[in-house]
Amino acid sequence: MPLTIAIDGPVGAGKSTISDVVAKRLGILHLDTGAMYRAVGLYMLDHQVDIRDEKAVSGLCEQGLVQVDARYEGDAQRTLLNGEDVTSRLRTQEVGGAASAVSRYPAVRRMLVRRQQEMARQQPMLLDGRDIGTVVLKDATVKIYLTASPEARAKRRMLQLREKGDQTPFEEILEEVNARDWQDMHRETDPLRQAEDAVLVDSSDLDFDETVNAILSLVEAKQ
Ligand code: C5P
Repeated sequence: MPLTIAIDGPVGAGKSTISDVVAKRLGILHLDTGAMYRAVGLYMLDHQVDIRDEKAVSGLCEQGLVQVDARYEGDAQRTLLNGEDVTSRLRTQEVGGAASAVSRYPAVRRMLVRRQQEMARQQPMLLDGRDIGTVVLKDATVKIYLTASPEARAKRRMLQLREKGDQTPFEEILEEVNARDWQDMHRETDPLRQAEDAVLVDSSDLDFDETVNAILSLVEAKQ
């Protein structure tokens, strides 16, 4: 079994960017599984499918009408929806909300988990998401639960938005972080939780480099 690293945690913990750098430093590929859920959400938005309609969403996935895949240009992940590269359309609030809604449905999860497991069997990989250590890669070489306080995560999110000229008030961002946590932690299928054998990394008081180094040391210790 190739090297597998599982990084889970709540929204805004910096999983994607941290995972990217950790994977680069280790010379392995990084699969951002959230992008795959976002691609399913995007399909539903594009085709005006009601994301609250579990039967409709699940039916489309089970019939093979929503095919999500990832490929790499160098080490950069491109996310494909029915063969089309949709990477540049995935990082909006709207698509994030749709992803969170469809990710509650077992049929959606089954479809994506299967693909993620296939990819991780083929090469050494780092996967980040919500259920990697608990479901996708139960036997991962290293499992990390990366988190930070809701306030710290909302503050980071606010700084990102300000850079884009978005003036959404802090209170509103914090509310959204808390709402997303609640949704991810309380859904019936594969809720977000720390795997028993995962190491907790709380980045509330760590900067970016300190967080990367903390994770790299854990990987080194395991190898
Ligand atoms: O991480 P990101 O914000 O891109 O994920 C979008 C949504 O997809 C999350 O809110 C979560 O509900 C869902 N997700 C999931 N399981 C994963 C990755 C993401 O349920 N492994």
